[in-house]
Amino acid sequence: CGIVGYIGHREAYPIIIKGLRRLEYRGYDSAGIALYDGKEINLSKTKGKVEDLKNKADASISTVGTLGMGHTRWATHGVPNDINSHPHYSNSGDLVIIHNGIIENYESIKKELVKRGYTFQSDTDTEVLVNLIEEVKKQENVKLGKAVQIALNEVVGAYAIAVFDKQKPDEIVVAKLGSPLAIGVGENEYFIASDASPFIEYTNNAVYLADEEMAIIRLGKEIKLRKIKDDAIA
Ligand code: GLU
Repeated sequence: CGIVGYIGHREAYPIIIKGLRRLEYRGYDSAGIALYDGKEINLSKTKGKVEDLKNKADASISTVGTLGMGHTRWATHGVPNDINSHPHYSNSGDLVIIHNGIIENYESIKKELVKRGYTFQSDTDTEVLVNLIEEVKKQENVKLGKAVQIALNEVVGAYAIAVFDKQKPDEIVVAKLGSPLAIGVGENEYFIASDASPFIEYTNNAVYLADEEMAIIRLGKEIKLRKIKDDAIA
C-alpha cells in the first residue's frame, strides 16, 4: 500500500502515477487518484493495478491540475472493489482523504456520525475518518489542520493520511502513526509519499514524519510540523 501527493506548479497526474508505480513493491489490491483542476476535484479509482487506474483515468476524467493525491490500497475494512478504493470524499464533497493503515474504533465513530446524518458510500474505516474530520471542522469552526488534529485524538489505530479541502486548494494536511510518510520539499512545490522514491528526481530535501506527528503543507509557506497529541494548532 502506498501514498503519493503533489502540490506545486507541475502537472500532478504524471508525478503521482509514476510515484504509485514506484511504490508497487509495497503490495496492494486497488488504486485511485484525486486531482484538483482549479475548480473541481476529479477522481478515479479501481480495483487492480496502477496500470488499470491510469487506463481508467485517461479514459474517464480530466487529469489536469497541480494539486493531487494517489493511493494504492491493501484492504483491511471492506472488500477490494472500486468503491472501497481511495481517495474518499467527505459528505460535503469538499474534503478528500487517502489513508494507509487501520482505524480500529471506526465503528463507534461511524454510529455517532450516522446519528448526525452522515451517509457512507464505502465499507472503509477511512471514509469514517474523513467525515469525522469534516464534522469536527464544522462543530469547532476550525481550520483543516486543527480539525485533523482533533479528529486524530479521537482515533485508535495506525495511519499515514493526506487530506485536502477543495475550498482551500493551496494546502495538504498529512499525519502519521505507524505507517510511513515522507515530504519532499522543492522550490515552491511539495511532494508527499510513503517513501522518498516518488520524488527523489525532483528534490533531495526530504522530511520524514515521526509517529504522532502531522504537517500542514501550504504553498509558499514553510511546512508546519506539529505533534498530534499536544502541540496547539491555531
Ligand atoms: N484501512 C483502509 C482500507 O481498508 C486502508 C488500507 C490501506 O492501508 O491501504 O481502506
